[in-house]
Amino acid sequence: MNMDNVATLHWQQDLLSSLEVGIVVLDRHFTVQVWNQFMENHSDIRPSQIIGSNLFGHFDEINEGWLKAKAEPVFNLQSPVFLIWEQRPYLFHFGSNRPITSDSTHMYQNVTMFPLSDADGTVQRLCMLVYDVTDQAIGKLRVDRLNDELKYMSRVDGLTGLYNRRYWQERFDNTFKLARRREQPVTAMMLDIDHFKKINDAYGHQAGDKVIQALSSILQQSVRETDLAGRYGGEEFAVVLSDSTADTSLLVAERIRSAAESMQVEHEGQAITFTVSLGLAEFNREYSSAMLWLEQADMALYDAKHNGRNQARVAAIA
Ligand code: GH3
Ligand code: MG
Ligand code: MG
Repeated sequence: MNMDNVATLHWQQDLLSSLEVGIVVLDRHFTVQVWNQFMENHSDIRPSQIIGSNLFGHFDEINEGWLKAKAEPVFNLQSPVFLIWEQRPYLFHFGSNRPITSDSTHMYQNVTMFPLSDADGTVQRLCMLVYDVTDQAIGKLRVDRLNDELKYMSRVDGLTGLYNRRYWQERFDNTFKLARRREQPVTAMMLDIDHFKKINDAYGHQAGDKVIQALSSILQQSVRETDLAGRYGGEEFAVVLSDSTADTSLLVAERIRSAAESMQVEHEGQAITFTVSLGLAEFNREYSSAMLWLEQADMALYDAKHNGRNQARVAAIA
C-alpha cells in the first residue's frame, strides 16, 4: 500500500467515524466487514471484536430468519430495503441517551439496506445505515397519545364519565344495524331521575349534579363491560344491554332501581335520596330504524312515570 492510499484510508476512516449514523457492511453470509464509530459507541463492541464474525452471534435481539428474508431483495434484486421504526422500533437494541423523564429506554431506528456492487457488477455485500430516530418517534408517539385522549374526551361526558349523547347515538345506530343481522337479543333501556327538579330546588344545582354522578356510578356497576351506557340528556340515561332479552334486562333495571332507591348522596351535611324510572324495549325486526326502537323504550319510561315512578316498565310488543 503506498502513502497516498494510506492517507485516503485515514480520512475515509475519519469520515465514517464522525457520522451520526450507524454504518455496517455485511457479506452474503452476514459476516461483518465494516463497523463504524457510531455502532461501536452504542453497542460497546469494537470493530476488532466484530469484523470477520457473524452479525447474529452478537445480537440476540435480531431474528436471523427475518433479517435474511428482508435482505434477500438487496442481494438478489439489487433493490434497497427500508426498515421503519413504526413497524419495528429498532433492529439493534441500543440504549437511549434521552433523559430518564422521557418515555423511551431504547433507541428507535430507521434502517436502510442497499446493495454494494463489485467491479464485475455482482452484489456480494450490502450496506446498512442505522438512523437514530428516537426524537422523532417520541414526538410522534406523544401526538398519537394526545389524539387518543382528544378522541376519548370527545366521546365522554365530563360530569359522569359515561358516553355523551352524540357518541352513544352513533354506537346505538351501529347496534341497531348489527341486531338486524344477528340472532342474539338486545335491549335498549332509558332511565330518568324522578322529580329531579325538586332535588335541584331543595338542595341546589350542585347537589343535583352529585346525584347525577351517583346514579352514573350505579349504572357503571350494574351493566356489563360490553353494554353501552350513555348520558342521554341532563338527568336522562340510555343503556344498550347486549345479549339480553327484555326479561333479563328487567332484572338489571330492577337492580339499578333498587340501588338508586337505597343510595344516600351526601351534600353539605344532608343525605339526599332519590328514585328513578326506567323503560325497556327489546330489539324487534318490526322496528325500521334505531330511532323507532329507542322511542319504544322512551314510551315505556313514560308509562313508568305515569304509573307512579320508581319502577321499570317494558314496552308492549310493537
Ligand atoms: P320527572 O319525574 O317527570 O322526570 O320529573 P323531573 O323533575 O325529573 O322532570 P324532568 O325530567 O323533565 O326534569 C329535568 C330537570 O333536570 C330539568 C333541569 O333543571 C334539571 N337538569 C338537567 N340537567 C341537569 C344537570 O346537568 N345538573 C342538574 N343539577 N340539573 C339538571
Ligand atoms: Mg326526571
Ligand atoms: Mg328528564
